[in-house]
Amino acid sequence: MKAFQLVAPHKAELRDVDVPEPGPGEILLQITGSGVCHSDLHLLHTDGMPYPMTLGHEPAGRIAALGPGVTGWEIGQHALAYIAWGCGLCRRCADGTDNACERFARRIVPGPGLGHPGAMADYLLVPARFLVPLGDLDPVDSAPLADAALTPYHVVSRALPLLTPSATAVVIGVGGLGHMAVQILRAITGSRIVAVDVDPAKLAAAEGYGADAAVPSDADAAARVLDLTSGVGADLVLDFVGTEPTLRLAASIVGSYGHLSAVGLAGGSIPFTADGSAAGLPWGATLSTPYAGTRRDLHEVVALARQGRIRVRAERHPLSEAQTVLDRLRRGEIQGRAVLVP
Ligand code: NAD
Ligand code: ZN
Ligand code: ZN
Repeated sequence: MKAFQLVAPHKAELRDVDVPEPGPGEILLQITGSGVCHSDLHLLHTDGMPYPMTLGHEPAGRIAALGPGVTGWEIGQHALAYIAWGCGLCRRCADGTDNACERFARRIVPGPGLGHPGAMADYLLVPARFLVPLGDLDPVDSAPLADAALTPYHVVSRALPLLTPSATAVVIGVGGLGHMAVQILRAITGSRIVAVDVDPAKLAAAEGYGADAAVPSDADAAARVLDLTSGVGADLVLDFVGTEPTLRLAASIVGSYGHLSAVGLAGGSIPFTADGSAAGLPWGATLSTPYAGTRRDLHEVVALARQGRIRVRAERHPLSEAQTVLDRLRRGEIQGRAVLVP
């Protein structure tokens, strides 16, 4: 089969590899769609990955084979694969918080395309307990639910007590994750939503997904968001970029006792001080660096999609064009999410 693999730092290519055989407790998925995440670009340019590694951590597929002992699933069923493959034994995994599995204490929990062979291939092996049924959702366009919707859902659902009708949530970077974040905020909260991006087309699209205001990410952005909140600041700020300028913007617009979630992995940093000063975060503000979401969150995301309350804007491309798609993503040319189809 074909697999798009990281083969060295800054180098990935489409290679021929063997179709894997499902072992005990495993399921073989025939991939129907594999979303392309900005994290794939970060992985491409990170040293020291376990080369070769097949990329792809937004897997949707059709069950092609069941390994020994697998019950409850049928060949032909469509499913998404959850992406943080925890141990299944610790107290975190016990409630579905596999994304913080204790076996990988303080480190990243591996998953498909994130340490294990990923979904940018014809087939993917998945331990059975990480599959979530897709039902009649589109088997291609739904792939990005596995991360581009899961990760924002995780943050927004944990911040729900802040997100009252009088509250304001700011989404910085309305790309793959951000365009889902706006829809999730619209679907599960009554808060006002402000989208911030450098790209006017993405801002216009964000208003279509339910953002109440769109603010260009420039030198005036902080003043504009503060104006929109009568100087008080936002209750939730989601930074889906993570550069120094966006983190600074996020810190300068989050209100006292608000929450800043730094999701983007561009490597920026901001000062932290304990005195609520202008240099850092205001009094009482909390900061999170979330990783993916829980297994339970993925079920909730699929439920929202099945109810038609969130929808991935997907661009379909053949798997053979993976590198071109990554180049376009780096240049900011993808609207919504690109999905590779084997
Ligand atoms: P994307 O490329 O699809 O979207 C990024 C968006 O940010 C684009 O719309 C772009 O125009 C916009 N942008 C760029 N610079 C900006 C700026 N200065 N101000 C405002 N907007 C700006 O990326 P994505 O796939 O949505 O991923 C977003 C980030 O989240 C990446 O860094 C990715 O690695 C990270 N990520 C983290 C997790 C996690 O669990 N922590 C999960 C998935 C992705
Ligand atoms: Zn990702
Ligand atoms: Zn565990």
